[in-house]
Amino acid sequence: MPYAFSVPQAAVPIAGGNDLFPVRRIYCVGRNYAEHAKEMGFTGREPPFFFCKPADAVVPVPENAVGEVAFPPMTANYQHEIELVVAIGEGGSNIPVDRADAHIFGYAVGLDMTRRDLQLALREMGRPWELGKAFDQSAPIGPIHRLGETGVMERGAIWLKVNGVEKQRGELTELIWSIPEVISNLSEYFTLEPGDLIFTGTPSGVGKVQGGDVLVGGVDGLGELSVKLL
Ligand code: MN
Repeated sequence: MPYAFSVPQAAVPIAGGNDLFPVRRIYCVGRNYAEHAKEMGFTGREPPFFFCKPADAVVPVPENAVGEVAFPPMTANYQHEIELVVAIGEGGSNIPVDRADAHIFGYAVGLDMTRRDLQLALREMGRPWELGKAFDQSAPIGPIHRLGETGVMERGAIWLKVNGVEKQRGELTELIWSIPEVISNLSEYFTLEPGDLIFTGTPSGVGKVQGGDVLVGGVDGLGELSVKLL
């Protein structure tokens, strides 16, 4: 049966060529750096928790380009969260921690953009987070670097500047739940498939941005992601 109409496949460029990584699902980890958990009012090492964004929330930004993101509606507190993104290349469920790296296709720098006012109000009411987290253009992302190029990433700085001023800085060694632990835990709840992206959490220093701001973030070994808010 033919489709009544076509729907674009969300995709992210792969560094070092013309190939695209088709996006199936976007999973995000909450509160995965201790200092960020504290600034959000939490402490300690609780089990990782997850939320999702739609695949078409990605805003792919090519290398050396400045992506453009429209300021979203219905918020007075729009915030940045710089994150390491893991791209899944091999699916599976109940993946053991010591086998998790074999499921990684590569890595990218991403922004988990957040309507913080809506997220916190929904949290207070015990309601789902979609309005605060899963809105249009809420996942700007740079090119995906293949695992063969980067090696398994376990350390390196992660940082974000707004209009040239550093706002966030962390180290991948500070992740409360390591990338293999995140993949393993997530795969107990969902069958992971090629095309899945996992935003692995943000270090402390999240804050409000406004139209006209330029966000530049990076992770050692993955280059920079630049976004201008319209
Ligand atoms: Mn986040």
